Amino acid sequence: MLTQEIPGNTSESVEICPACGSQVPRHANFRSWCECGWNLEPFESMTSDTRFAAVYHKLGRKLGTKLLLDMMNEKSFKPRLTTNKFIVFLFASLIHLITVSLAVSCCVLIVNGIHSHYYFYVLLGAIAALAVWFSAPRFPKLSLDGVRLSREQYSALYGLVDEISDYMKLPRIDGLIIDHRFNASYLQAGWRMKRYVTLGLPLFSILSREEKVALVGHEIAHGVNRDILSGFYTLSAYHTLLRWSDLLDPQDSGITERNLAYFVSKHVLKLLSYVPWLLANLFIYLQFYESQKREYLADYKAAEVGGTDAAIGVGEKLYGWRTFATALHRYVMNRQTGNFFESYKEMINAMPDRERERIRRVELLEGSRLHFTHPPGAYRLQFLRHHFHAGSSVSVTDEHWAKLEEELKELEPRIQTKMIVDFQDDLVHTTDFQVYT
Ligand SMILES: [Zn+2]
Ligand SMILES: [Zn+2]
Repeated sequence: MLTQEIPGNTSESVEICPACGSQVPRHANFRSWCECGWNLEPFESMTSDTRFAAVYHKLGRKLGTKLLLDMMNEKSFKPRLTTNKFIVFLFASLIHLITVSLAVSCCVLIVNGIHSHYYFYVLLGAIAALAVWFSAPRFPKLSLDGVRLSREQYSALYGLVDEISDYMKLPRIDGLIIDHRFNASYLQAGWRMKRYVTLGLPLFSILSREEKVALVGHEIAHGVNRDILSGFYTLSAYHTLLRWSDLLDPQDSGITERNLAYFVSKHVLKLLSYVPWLLANLFIYLQFYESQKREYLADYKAAEVGGTDAAIGVGEKLYGWRTFATALHRYVMNRQTGNFFESYKEMINAMPDRERERIRRVELLEGSRLHFTHPPGAYRLQFLRHHFHAGSSVSVTDEHWAKLEEELKELEPRIQTKMIVDFQDDLVHTTDFQVYT
């Protein structure tokens, strides 16, 4: 760990751009950049699912512009059955049908085997049972590393989310979680597919009132009923394909003997594993259009409830994650004590126009997107401006906002502790930051 003090003053000086030699302003808290493009790289948060990401990038280059045009001309943002959705549904049904057939064969084999005392059938049935266990869809689990809020104690935060759900005519959420990430997300988990919204305090606490409404609106919009039902039905089929592919592709066992059995297990199974793998890729092709459309739909809803300016504001703040990263890095490395959120918010409030300009430029760069599943930042901006909404449609009283800010303040110490522990772990393992909403 570094012991040298990281400078925290805000005084400005100049430095020389290493690319073109111009003088550029230097600021202790923010990244230097130059008109020539130095330090203006496209931003995209890292991802571990590279197989998925690579196909998405390729499709994005091919279909991204057409999708944007479709979304600009879209009149109704109500979910409806499209040919594309129907094909995805049929494809997923086919995969699930294989699992169901395996389950039926397993029962028939075991019952027949026991009745006829022909135990080889029972053995085959047991193998089929294993295959069923391997193929069966898994309900998403809620991995809780934030604070799950109680409705009684945090009535103002729940009140805001409920207000927005009611406006969108969606069922109220089952749980609100506040965590330490610069992020927000929506998840349906468990066999009852309960609805959860997670809001990262570092992001949520720097948003204006309208931006808070827009962010919650975006996440809630991911819960449009049919969207998520088809999402689970189809996504679980995709995961089944990936598991089949992994099962068939044996890892290097370290056996040095080169006999026929080894050849068969290593090469024939590997070849077979390409079948589900190719099918999984075909699935991504089919799914791509719908999943990107969902992001546009969520953005549309965010602008409807919070206003277009607020929806754009949330995007800009997300692209400005670096300020949070710098504040946290400095807080931990300088072994500062006291409330992290206060020094962090001070830094945000003192952000120079030049840094805002850098963020805007990065957002517009080709290849900038918050996550590989999302449309490019520039496209989202174009889309939001095209379907303009003048202001917020959800009215919340000043007393409600004051209570909500109190609730957030009360959560700060707990979130701060978790954030610092996580940062120290990340220092050991990785420096990646994940941002997606
Ligand atoms: Zn330059
Ligand atoms: Zn989203």
